[in-house]
Amino acid sequence: MSLLREAERCVANQYAHNFNTFITPLSRAGPWLDRVKEADVRKEEGKPKSAVDGRLISIKDNICTRDLPTTCASGILDKFTSPFNATVVDQLEAAGAIVAGKTNLDEFGMGSHSINSHFGPVKNPRRDSSGEDLSAGGSSGGSAASVAANQCYASLGTDTGGSVRLPAAYTGTVGFKPSYGLISRWGVVAYANSLDTVGILGKTTANVRDIFDILNQHDQRDPTSLSTSSRSRIQASLQTPQLASRLTSAPLRIGVPMEYNVSELTPSVRRAWALSLTHLREQGHTVHSVSLPDTKHALSTYYVVAPAEASSNLAKYDGVRYGTRAEGPDGDGKPDGYLFSNTRGQGFGPEVKRRIVLGTFTLSADAIDNYFIQAQRVRRLVQQDFNAVFTAKHPLALQSADKIANENDVDVIICPTAPSSPPQLSDLKSKSTKISPLDAYVTDVFTVPASLAGLPAISVPVTVSGEKDAELAGIQVIGQYGDDQLVLKVGEMLE
Ligand code: GLN
Repeated sequence: MSLLREAERCVANQYAHNFNTFITPLSRAGPWLDRVKEADVRKEEGKPKSAVDGRLISIKDNICTRDLPTTCASGILDKFTSPFNATVVDQLEAAGAIVAGKTNLDEFGMGSHSINSHFGPVKNPRRDSSGEDLSAGGSSGGSAASVAANQCYASLGTDTGGSVRLPAAYTGTVGFKPSYGLISRWGVVAYANSLDTVGILGKTTANVRDIFDILNQHDQRDPTSLSTSSRSRIQASLQTPQLASRLTSAPLRIGVPMEYNVSELTPSVRRAWALSLTHLREQGHTVHSVSLPDTKHALSTYYVVAPAEASSNLAKYDGVRYGTRAEGPDGDGKPDGYLFSNTRGQGFGPEVKRRIVLGTFTLSADAIDNYFIQAQRVRRLVQQDFNAVFTAKHPLALQSADKIANENDVDVIICPTAPSSPPQLSDLKSKSTKISPLDAYVTDVFTVPASLAGLPAISVPVTVSGEKDAELAGIQVIGQYGDDQLVLKVGEMLE
């Protein structure tokens, strides 16, 4: 199929199926058509710019684009257009890709079901057997759903605590969160800087890898982007003969964390997990039980650290410097006047306000020691748990933190992405069965540990035959810091 045909089909799907995936879809006609035609010529000549030359890639609406608005699904930015492109957008465009529109999300990335959006909830293109609308996961639900509904070739999302992996698991797509610091965050609206990563969603791991190869570069505009020398150090530390052979043919040691085997796992998720392990064993790999004892504290740690950083990041939305300004008196002599509080009161949705209040509290003088500082300590323990079980030592760890090799170490960890299958949207909204904010936080229990430790993780869809029909569940592969290629390789084996 020509690239033009493929692109036109995607755009037609954007208008034909209303899953509320896009806040700003691609216009049916525009300069993009010529760019795809040029890419078709290059393809025919056998000289494509890259694997994504002429392909449509949708972009989560918290990643800045010059040509289309960037709203973060918030009332406070509903008319905002950035004067510049994020580095990742420039990198994709330089590789010939076309921005396929801006996808819906939970406001500022805060949520797990893409229902906290100023523009209404995202619907999962998959329905349950009774035809009910399901959650697409969040916060990159629009990105995942746009891939699942063939409205683009692939998508960029962001993953702070699971926002790429959970929607991938719920929509039956592949979602990859690389090691922290590999992909530039310049021009990506910050939620919680120490956790935020740009992630990639696609139909297959191979598609995701192609895009990762384009974005995996140092960016001097992002102070947390890994320098070229750190990248070389990581490569060197993973290229000892023993470790390098894992990428070719050596049998892998697969870790199964016993703490993830909770009774709340839905049967289809449990079956998909078991099936994946059997499949890997059949390919000659060995499966070993490992312990990550601090996992049980990871979720509460995340929900202290992330809102704390968010409360600071969101202080800049005051109606003066960015976005929508509330009507009304602007100060009347008081230090912060009405302008700030009116703008923020009207502009932010309830979940964002909840996080700001939570974060402001945990950073306040009386609470900081018990909450924020304590959470930083636990975060370190979660990182040490992972370092203790991986064969590869953390490539950037200080020498004193060097690990002692243990014969029980593993190369990757395999676990579910989410404890259950996607809930019905009506259950998330209805008053009687209303799922509380806390219930939504629990959905992230298996994704936040890798986020706290900055590790690469991918969610791949695994099909299980259920009682009625085939069901899908997301299975997650987590690797040591910098071991992104191995994580992608194991993801591919599970597809
Ligand atoms: N669900 C998590 C949260 O609400 C993760 C969000 C994300 O990764 N952006 O914070």
